Amino acid sequence: MKVRFWGVRGSFAMSGREFLRYGGNTPCVELQTDDGQRLVIDLGTGATELAKSLMGTALGKGTGELPILLTHTHLDHIQGLPFFTPFFLEGNHISIHGVDPDGTSLEATLQNQLAPHYSPLGGLENLSAHVSIEAFQPGDRLALGPFKIRTAAMPHATMRTTAFRIEADGKVVTFLSDVEYPDPEAPDPQAVALAMGADLLIHDAMHPDDEYDLRRGWGHSPVCAGIAVATAALCKRLALFHHSPDATDDQIDALVASAQAQTSIPLFAAAEGSYVEI
Ligand SMILES: [Zn+2]
Repeated sequence: MKVRFWGVRGSFAMSGREFLRYGGNTPCVELQTDDGQRLVIDLGTGATELAKSLMGTALGKGTGELPILLTHTHLDHIQGLPFFTPFFLEGNHISIHGVDPDGTSLEATLQNQLAPHYSPLGGLENLSAHVSIEAFQPGDRLALGPFKIRTAAMPHATMRTTAFRIEADGKVVTFLSDVEYPDPEAPDPQAVALAMGADLLIHDAMHPDDEYDLRRGWGHSPVCAGIAVATAALCKRLALFHHSPDATDDQIDALVASAQAQTSIPLFAAAEGSYVEI
């Protein structure tokens, strides 16, 4: 299975020469099985680059199918939705799977994003592709094509986000972004269960450990939190993800060095456009 990072930046997109190596787009990750079937996690601004790469596939001809998982509906995870080209090709079948935010529905939330006061698209019904919004409950198991998925709710500031354990091709990818555990240094049991034995754990690492006290309660993790989960869950590799919009390439390099000094588990900082073969 191939895991490609199209957007790795948290909170809001960045541009500038000090962000070129890791990239400035917000979260979007593509999983592709050995026989070419795809699953996407989140539609941050990185989705626009993913869309370009898909134009040579069936999704560029209006004959494609694509399932998309949403961790939650904070803007940095859905801002690429109105600009994701496969939505504008009649004949494509695209399904969006996520948990209803507290007090509203997933469909109403995405519909609101396209309302005229935010977007000229006006509404989901104006997308040319067949788009289905499919809400699930945290804890549900999903089967999307060859991808077998376990889900769990995780604390994220004033709301919850959804974490995923995804199995395909006999490999496991666990996605734990936009999470802040009550005690980041103690491995969270639910997170460990999702990550157990994962070939790749993609984990929120927005804050350097020594800056975390200043940002406690923002809904994101210090680097040590992902290391604690990866260690307890015996993960094979750890990708640091959801980089702070303030973090320059050099600062992310330093983050990786400080993280690698804490563990023997191979780790790296996710970089836009790069991929991992697992
Ligand atoms: Zn985020």
